[in-house]
Amino acid sequence: MGKGTQADLLHQRLKACHLSTGDVFRAAGKLPECEQSPAMMEALGYMRRGELVPDSTVWEMVRERKGCLHCAGGFILDGFPRTLGQAESLKQLMDSEGLELTAVVNYELPVSEIVARLSGRRTCEKCKAVYHVKERPPKAEGCCDRCDGKLFQREDDRPESIRVRLEAYDRSTAPLIQFYEKLGLLVQVGAVGTPDEIFERTLARLGSWRAACVDKACRVS
Ligand code: AMP
Repeated sequence: MGKGTQADLLHQRLKACHLSTGDVFRAAGKLPECEQSPAMMEALGYMRRGELVPDSTVWEMVRERKGCLHCAGGFILDGFPRTLGQAESLKQLMDSEGLELTAVVNYELPVSEIVARLSGRRTCEKCKAVYHVKERPPKAEGCCDRCDGKLFQREDDRPESIRVRLEAYDRSTAPLIQFYEKLGLLVQVGAVGTPDEIFERTLARLGSWRAACVDKACRVS
């Protein structure tokens, strides 16, 4: 519901590595079937239905890309972790690599708005530019302004998949809010507004968050 756009804007601004588990699955879905592993084919089925991919498959994929965690500009994990199991595995990996998360951003948006955003989203099949049929329509219907590519609706943005995704969020992902709050890492950001407005709000929240952390550290030492 726009977190990918925000992660991409942050990646461009901070030069941090952007690892999106959803993008990795979508890229795998574009490969010819003979090049897809059985685990990946299974994962794509979960994704199309709007369900969460099993932790073991997600974790395998993240572990293969753990080099991202050592990027000189830092890293942004987008759409990961999404379950407590994934968060625990990530914590263990980070501890073993001598790394720490700086902050965990949670975007807040009313459910009605989430449904409107997801169901109106259209993506360019060539350059991956993202549009919205009402909020950010292309100049010519169904056609990308940037590259003339054809716009399509993600299978998991269809109404039946959106319902399943929201249920999966409540059941498996929402508990992470408390998990990261307890670790003192949670940064809540309101996600109402345009992508640029949300981005400016994200930068401002992260800036004040960092200042508060530095302040706290100075008082302790
Ligand atoms: P996203 O682009 O982040 O919304 O992810 C699209 C879909 O990919 C999700 O609805 C899930 O089916 C799958 N997916 C992405 N990341 C994860 C994850 N960390 N755990 C489980 N499934 C995931």
